[in-house]
Amino acid sequence: MKEIKHFINGTFVGSASGRTFDDINPANGQVIGRVHEAGRAEVDAAVQAARAALSGPWGAMSVAERADILHRVADGITARFDEFLEAECLDTGKPKSLASHIDIPRGAANFKVFADLLKNVPNEAFEMATPDGSGAINYAVRRPKGVIGVISPWNLPLLLMTWKVGPALACGNTVVVKPSEETPLTTTLLGEVMQAAGVPAGVYNVVHGFGGDSAGAFLTEHADVDAFTFTGETGTGELIMRAAAKGVRQVSLELGGKNAGIVFADCDMDKAIEGTLRSAFANCGQVCLGTERLYVERSIFEEFVARLKDGAESLMIGPPDDPTSNFGPLVSLKHREKVLSYYQQAVADGATVVTGGGVPQMPEALAGGAWIQPTIWTGLADDSAVVTEEIFGPCCHIRPFDSEAEAVALANSLPYGLSATLWSDNVSRAHRVAGQLEAGIVWVNSWFLRDLRTAFGGSKQSGIGREGGVHSLEFYTELKNICVKL
Ligand code: NAD
Repeated sequence: MKEIKHFINGTFVGSASGRTFDDINPANGQVIGRVHEAGRAEVDAAVQAARAALSGPWGAMSVAERADILHRVADGITARFDEFLEAECLDTGKPKSLASHIDIPRGAANFKVFADLLKNVPNEAFEMATPDGSGAINYAVRRPKGVIGVISPWNLPLLLMTWKVGPALACGNTVVVKPSEETPLTTTLLGEVMQAAGVPAGVYNVVHGFGGDSAGAFLTEHADVDAFTFTGETGTGELIMRAAAKGVRQVSLELGGKNAGIVFADCDMDKAIEGTLRSAFANCGQVCLGTERLYVERSIFEEFVARLKDGAESLMIGPPDDPTSNFGPLVSLKHREKVLSYYQQAVADGATVVTGGGVPQMPEALAGGAWIQPTIWTGLADDSAVVTEEIFGPCCHIRPFDSEAEAVALANSLPYGLSATLWSDNVSRAHRVAGQLEAGIVWVNSWFLRDLRTAFGGSKQSGIGREGGVHSLEFYTELKNICVKL
């Protein structure tokens, strides 16, 4: 049984209250470890450590020195790849084949990409005429924002947390991380890597616990945190924004979505099916960028539905260690209850269940896990909650359309705007439609193809701000103009 502690000021510490909660393996329902739950005292200690570290050796380092350390952090993750993989798969139940390609390598890459970016980023300068003829020079410098509160979700725990911690540290900030209560392991393990890489004490701190009335809320209510970066549900984002308003603290919010996929008759059908199988079912549908609404041109509708059904039924459901498995469980039994409630709602709303719709029969040893069937529906009204609300499970609804304008209107009809995917081999149409879709990220003939230098974030209720590449600097640094009269 693991004991999972906070990481504060370079030391692993338990909670003064002695309060703990269980970390559960969603593949079999068994308890992996006991996690310490932070009270206000631990959160305060972490914030104070982060504040003090700003003016310690970390604050005095050059950009190049910080970058070297962050490269060592990335190398440290890679050196302990198998431990990170084991921890992530224990917490999430996801197939090792998936986590070894995405979660862990991207977790390491997030440190290198931002360390290198900071070494090369230019700043603006303006020469200016003055009435006396001597002139002035303006130039910009970037300074760390300070102590950043990082609140992260459970679906891609290491990847999404380091996506924030990487740029925060590269910019010279210090962090207090509150990982999801469902997935505490890799964030904790990273503390050991940070220490070994020479990150000074207090720069990277971790507090464990829940959201409301627990570590999450205690962190957002703490007056000495300068800004918050959050990935999670839109409703939680609203709460965090409200807490951050006190003291006028900045927020970066990466929130929920109900992403549309549009499939035109002129697409490459093999590629559209392959991409949609991933966008709807990868990570058991628990990807914020996933496709839960598909609009397919009527002339290929029947064929598309039949082929996606075949693909969904050939997914290999199994535990992380099974090398043939490409479909794991949901993150928890609680989340399965939520997803199953939508499965029931779909039937009540008159859907045709093309495939799935329930819980698969699993062997005895896995029967306590949060397993669920990949599910496809057709025939629902556009205003069914199944079509308008984020389910965050392995499921999608497919609806036919007759014109480009209709497809765009349907895709844009919801208050979310995270990502959209379109499939067409007509270049003009692809550009035209991509430009009209109300989403922060549009993929054409692909899905989840990420260049970390590009802007990432949601429009409408899917988020505030953009992270990635130089866009991360807007949030993680304070831009200061210095005006020198000559
Ligand atoms: P969640 O909002 O329930 O929880 C996210 C984190 O916020 C957890 O660490 C949780 O403990 C914390 N939290 C909850 N209530 C809080 C409060 N009142 N104050 C402070 N912290 C609080 O989200 P989740 O269920 O962990 O993740 C799934 C959601 O995340 C989905 O909506 C998904 O779309 C979204 N998501 C978005 C992106 C993106 O980039 N836009 C990426 C991944 C996931």
